[in-house]
Amino acid sequence: MSWKVPTRFGYYTGSAPSPEEIWPDIKDPKKVVEKARQIIEEMKKGPWPSFVKEAEKSQYPLLAWAIGVALGRSPWDTGASPVPGVYSGLLGRVFHATVEKVIREGAPEEYKKYEEWGILFAGKVYEVHARILSPPAGFMSTTLMRVICEITDKLGWGILQLRGGTGAMPVVMSDQSKVERLVMAVRLLTPTDVGGSGDVLRTWTCCPGPASCPFACYDTLMWWEEVGKRFPDWATYPQFPYKIKFKFSGCPIDCIKALVGADYIVIGTWLGAPQIDQEEFRKMVKTGEVDPKEIVESCPTGALTWDEQSLELKCDPRKCVKCMNCIIRANPAILPGKNKGVMILIGGTIKSRMGPKMAAVLIPFIRITPENERKVLNWFLDLVEKKIVAKWADTAFVRERVGDLSIRMTWEKFVKEVVEHPAPDLVIRKEPPPEPYYKDAIPFAMIPRDQKWKYVEALKKALGVS
Ligand code: SF4
Ligand code: SF4
Repeated sequence: MSWKVPTRFGYYTGSAPSPEEIWPDIKDPKKVVEKARQIIEEMKKGPWPSFVKEAEKSQYPLLAWAIGVALGRSPWDTGASPVPGVYSGLLGRVFHATVEKVIREGAPEEYKKYEEWGILFAGKVYEVHARILSPPAGFMSTTLMRVICEITDKLGWGILQLRGGTGAMPVVMSDQSKVERLVMAVRLLTPTDVGGSGDVLRTWTCCPGPASCPFACYDTLMWWEEVGKRFPDWATYPQFPYKIKFKFSGCPIDCIKALVGADYIVIGTWLGAPQIDQEEFRKMVKTGEVDPKEIVESCPTGALTWDEQSLELKCDPRKCVKCMNCIIRANPAILPGKNKGVMILIGGTIKSRMGPKMAAVLIPFIRITPENERKVLNWFLDLVEKKIVAKWADTAFVRERVGDLSIRMTWEKFVKEVVEHPAPDLVIRKEPPPEPYYKDAIPFAMIPRDQKWKYVEALKKALGVS
């Protein structure tokens, strides 16, 4: 089957197999349903808690999920649901036509059950994701949690999704008349709100950072809080070509997958070598907790060496790319370096016009100290608000995220015309810096050294400095 898709860039054409070619099994819906039921039974086995067993206690259409697994695709297609008083609307999901057909023809009794549950609307099975905005890093009191669970049980399917990545707690439901009651309940009974859909500032998120993690290189929670304080209208009123996401990760482990899931990203990092407490490391070696040879061999850049004579682990700061490997294996003996700071990246997305992409490094390092952290944070928010978003909102095509715009314009032009001068005093120095600044301190472990240099060169060229 050939296809032709009109875009602003012209036409994409190509050929695609028909659904029957991709999933030969859908010719026989009963066979697919049988396979799906086997998957459900299989997922209940094992010594660990089974999410399938738990989901069975709710009204979640589990069979549809299993049919999706059997066919190798999500059973849901995206959509939106208008709700009075929620200007951004709520996320909606409708069964994919293929999945709907398989259930209707292969499991008519299940389809009837969906009718009884009231999750059918205009002949389609649908659900609404009412996203309750989470507190930073998901920290909340048990009292608040209980209220949210009660709202979920009474008005939704009894399912509340708790995921670190999105920064929201979607309540899954389908009864349109209850959606408005849910919004009222959340607004009246909790200190948070419902939102985060449409062309708005979506739920911004952060890792727990200094609240619970020894690796945090800056105060992720404070950065999260300031975004909420500065841009409440961005989160409420659709006013952009597409969505905007912020993520704050305390260190390069990037627990919240900021690198691939947000437009504006701040990742904690440091200059030079990690801190190594030699005494503590020797203790860990003695008790067999760590094998120094294994740690040395697993360093991707060969930055570490183990001195058998002095029993010291040494690190060449020029080679360390901050991959966190040795730190994960040997903390608390090895921790992020003392000279902490942040790296700023732009344009990571999983879904967008130009497909999935990792974010690009805009600013490799800005030092953070307790004294200057708020100043850097305000500078970052000004940069995003007054330069990048202001121009992106004017320049971008519909449904074009900032990462797509940077590709369309080319990174060099994007930095020059949209970002303008990203704090040149912080980024570019004409005289040699007093310590390794660029060459060995671009802490982006996923990109090889020569690639990293391309970013630096592009940035320098765009800013007209040598
Ligand atoms: S991203 Fe780093 S600082 Fe944040 S929770 Fe994960 S390991 Fe800790
Ligand atoms: S953080 Fe990674 S690159 Fe740096 S010394 Fe440790 S293992 Fe090597």
